[in-house]
Amino acid sequence: MNQNYIIEPEKKIPVIEADVFVAGAGTAGCIAAIAAARQGARVVLAEKMPVPGGTYTNGGIGANSFYAMSTAPATAKRTVGGIPYELNQRLLEAGGGTGYIPTPEDHHHSPFRFVADHEVYKGVISEMLMEAGVTVYLQTMFCGVLMEGDSITAALIENKDGRSAVTARQYIDASGDGDIAKFAGVEQVPLWQDYHKVCGGPTGLVFGMAGVDTERMVAENPMGAVKLSEAKTGIPGVTAEQYAFTHAKDPERYKAVADLDMRLFTSMSSIHKGEMTYINNSKGVDCDASRADELSRAEMEMRIKIMKFASALKECVPGFEDAYLSWASTQLGIRATKATVCDKTLTQEEISAATRFEDEIGLYGFHDLFQKAHPECEIAAPGFYGFPYRMLLAKGCANLFMAGRCVTTDLKAHMSTRNVPGCQVMGQGAGVAAALCAQKGCASRELPYPELRQALLEQDVILD
Ligand SMILES: Cc1cc2nc3c(=O)[nH]c(=O)nc-3n(C[C@H](O)[C@H](O)[C@H](O)COP(=O)(O)OP(=O)(O)OC[C@H]3O[C@@H](n4cnc5c(N)ncnc54)[C@H](O)[C@@H]3O)c2cc1C
Repeated sequence: MNQNYIIEPEKKIPVIEADVFVAGAGTAGCIAAIAAARQGARVVLAEKMPVPGGTYTNGGIGANSFYAMSTAPATAKRTVGGIPYELNQRLLEAGGGTGYIPTPEDHHHSPFRFVADHEVYKGVISEMLMEAGVTVYLQTMFCGVLMEGDSITAALIENKDGRSAVTARQYIDASGDGDIAKFAGVEQVPLWQDYHKVCGGPTGLVFGMAGVDTERMVAENPMGAVKLSEAKTGIPGVTAEQYAFTHAKDPERYKAVADLDMRLFTSMSSIHKGEMTYINNSKGVDCDASRADELSRAEMEMRIKIMKFASALKECVPGFEDAYLSWASTQLGIRATKATVCDKTLTQEEISAATRFEDEIGLYGFHDLFQKAHPECEIAAPGFYGFPYRMLLAKGCANLFMAGRCVTTDLKAHMSTRNVPGCQVMGQGAGVAAALCAQKGCASRELPYPELRQALLEQDVILD
């Protein structure tokens, strides 16, 4: 009889001791690791890619909003502080951020946009991880857990040294897909199938082109290209410009683009002269990117797609004749795979009602769905809502925190929480809480909220 498994022989593997283990050095995971280390914990962070930063660096995402929705720039409230804000300030100092650019015309009703240079981000986040004393293992896959009852006792990792076990007191799943939760048997809900109903689909691949004449692009493509905004950033030589391109109004002229399976609308940002730093057509492969086979197929299909898209832009869009593909994100951008069930699911109704909670770990005030088609996603005055601590606690597990896009099973709510600052806020909340639990020797649900709140305030998290 054929059997589709084998039983591996038992073997001894080395143990690495820690207070807090974090899977995934991405948008949320880096912040979580830094927060836990600054709180005094010994932190081990495992990342499968060679560079920390996750979707922000390896996925090449640029823009984000740290402010409450629907307010004019002059009166806008900043809702995100702490380590994410410090990171932006350090990006600015390193010449890798645009500052908070007023965008009163923004269709999401976000008063400011901050655009980061993903290459500088790689250096700044590495500096912050090293300064905090986080033990970082890059090119290291988290691949399983050992459990006793409802507690995780070890995280299994693999890298060039072979297989090791990290025995920590607390675990933070910032893998985007909820990999720790999956191996720990926590319930997960697929979100990816419905994602094309709310945006360009569950995946996307951002890229950039150098050698672009942006002025000609606008002047000579009256039916296709518009400049949405331009702002001097205060950094010499850095001007943030936002463009939109559509082939829909003149499909004959833009036939090379129209023939491709892309969205009608392409969002483009330029932060360095002569280049279109970020080109985001959004439309990605529809797949469950938490599966190895689907992820591999989607990665390759998207490489082919953007190669064709870049050469189609060059072929038919004046201003792009001398342009070339200068970079593409090193890993597929993933908006959603599955969300992990936590003690509390934040719902769209709560977000729209600007709901506040008694156990908040942070605030957030941006919604990616608030456009004409989704008026129900506007966040009521004052334009922000709270993240309750309970939304980070993996259901049924005593020492597992979730942070990032693997949180929130409500599809529309996910279109708010999954954005960069939202993931970073969850990361800091999870990091501080995990460190405190490790120090006190308590389970995640036993942590007294006043102690957590005090520690968050001491790390400059905005809670009011
Ligand atoms: C095309 C696209 C455009 C977007 N545009 C914007 C935008 O303009 N503004 C905005 O605010 N947001 C945007 N987003 C959303 C935002 O970038 C992401 O939702 C957010 O960065 C996710 O953060 P995260 O920490 O949950 O995951 P990630 O940043 O993806 O981090 C997860 C990390 O875990 C690692 N990992 C995964 N599994 C393992 C494992 N088993 N072992 C070890 N490591 C592992 C990954 O390599 C990765 O580094 C966009 C997303 C996409 C895809």
